[in-house]
Amino acid sequence: MTRPPNPAVYDVLDPRFADLIAPSEELHHLSDGSGWAEGPVYVAATRTLYWSDIPGDRVLRYDESTGVVAEHECPANHANGHTLDRDGVIVACEHGTRSVVRWWPDGRREVVADRFDGKRFNSPNDVVVSSDGSVWFTDPTYGIDSDEEGHAAESEIGGNHVFRVSPDGAVGPVITDMVQPNGLAFSLDERTLYVADTGATHVTDGPRHIRRFDVDLAAGDITGGGEVWATCPEGVFDGFRLDADGRIWASGRQGVHCYLPDGTLLGTVRLPEVCANVEWGGADRRTLYMTANTSLYSLRLAVGGPDR
Ligand code: MG
Repeated sequence: MTRPPNPAVYDVLDPRFADLIAPSEELHHLSDGSGWAEGPVYVAATRTLYWSDIPGDRVLRYDESTGVVAEHECPANHANGHTLDRDGVIVACEHGTRSVVRWWPDGRREVVADRFDGKRFNSPNDVVVSSDGSVWFTDPTYGIDSDEEGHAAESEIGGNHVFRVSPDGAVGPVITDMVQPNGLAFSLDERTLYVADTGATHVTDGPRHIRRFDVDLAAGDITGGGEVWATCPEGVFDGFRLDADGRIWASGRQGVHCYLPDGTLLGTVRLPEVCANVEWGGADRRTLYMTANTSLYSLRLAVGGPDR
């Protein structure tokens, strides 16, 4: 179902935010009916946006050319976060299989990683692929806490880590001091890794922030940093992505918050629902897709995503 567009609502906290938004653009409500919409990824070749309905155990798709929303796969292993690898192949986090996989729209799939040191992951949540082909993902417990977003189970690893899978398939933890690591993204130069911690969902006064870490991509490891970079104005940060100039567009309870790399909050795109993740789309990459609770929204901006 597609509802008519509504005027987009912005909180402009810094005049520099005004250059990024297009006040005449409207907020489009493209789909509803999801139990918890997450994990959007855009495939430019087919102008298709895929995303997850985690409790509904579905992957949905939106055809940008026709405006048609369809169910792509159901059941879908309680898929969560998605990204593209260097070849443009979709990489998915699956709560249901407790693994990270690659899949193709024609149904082929292969496992990227499903365990570390012989122990199954908790429930991979969100994923990025760096320019050297390594796969970095977060592994909190949301998909094993209950049967709501996966299958209730004990943690085998006994911790909630950020893992890296090297191009040859070796798996190792790179960050081990987070409560519930969640969304993650590299800076444009890949010298910084930003990781959200949504630990406040499990721990009173727990983390609801993004931390920044120094990365040595050649060494395949974190070399320093780890300080809190930004704390969510309301609720928790979940997924986020960078724009072509390195700003960070981060989901939260109020919608999508836009930050400079130095942590300055420029402004917020207000949404009627809690936002879980964002993705760039459109032929010019200036369409911001937002998965928010039951819905998929889109908004045209004056800035777009980096080239892929
Ligand atoms: Mg997430």
